[in-house]
Amino acid sequence: MSLKVQVTDLNKSFGSNHVLKGIDLDVQNNEVVVIIGPSGSGKSTLLRCLNRLETPTSGKIVIDNVDISDPKADINRVRQNIGMVFQHFNLFNNMTVAENIMLAPMELKGETESQAADQAHKLLQQVGLDEKFDAKIQSLSGGQQQRVAIARALAMNPDIMLFDEPTSALDPEMVGDVLEVMKDLAKQGMTMVVVTHEMGFAKEVADRVIFADEGKILEQGKPNEIFGNPQNPRLKDFLNKVL
Ligand code: ADP
Ligand code: MG
Repeated sequence: MSLKVQVTDLNKSFGSNHVLKGIDLDVQNNEVVVIIGPSGSGKSTLLRCLNRLETPTSGKIVIDNVDISDPKADINRVRQNIGMVFQHFNLFNNMTVAENIMLAPMELKGETESQAADQAHKLLQQVGLDEKFDAKIQSLSGGQQQRVAIARALAMNPDIMLFDEPTSALDPEMVGDVLEVMKDLAKQGMTMVVVTHEMGFAKEVADRVIFADEGKILEQGKPNEIFGNPQNPRLKDFLNKVL
């Protein structure tokens, strides 16, 4: 196993709000890490620090051997290898499905239109939506939009994918298709960090589950340890509420 992400003593404050309080987190190549925890505990902030959508207040983050906390680091290069999927899709609504997927590879990687289109077809097949190639984003359901968002993130050939509650905004009947796509990705060996409230997904797919509360990692372990034999009283309390 090789180390993909190494976070050391990460702190993040927004003004006087100390949100991340000394987070240490390693993610190995090909590992699927699921982060669970109450709302407001800093899960999104942690993910956003990993691709520097937020600047840490202190601490060190090394991704693919690049110290992204170093102001001299080429953050754009590192970011190209990190795919991010958000709760609210963040697609370009005035563009088609294909245009959304082809944009970054053409603008950032210099792919030709036909190369980018070929890849968009492959990715749309992978997420079960090739028939939507020319569709407008607004014509898609939420679940379809989220699968397009995953295809768009994959179009840059990232070697790590970050998911921030990718199914939380979806109608219940849409959730399964999105989780299936994520499961397939995990099976293919994608390194993934997933924040989710889908405990079934965590049990089935995670190599490791992390429980975060009030800006700290309070417990982590294999799914059967976290769900079958939780130790921390706050984790027990959280599981009682969500299971
Ligand atoms: P979670 O994802 O676990 O629900 P967040 O990371 O979104 O938690 O938020 C943790 C805390 O950080 C909350 O108190 C939230 O209000 C605060 N916070 C998050 N982002 C910002 C921001 N951009 N500016 C100010 N406060 C923020
Ligand atoms: Mg969040």
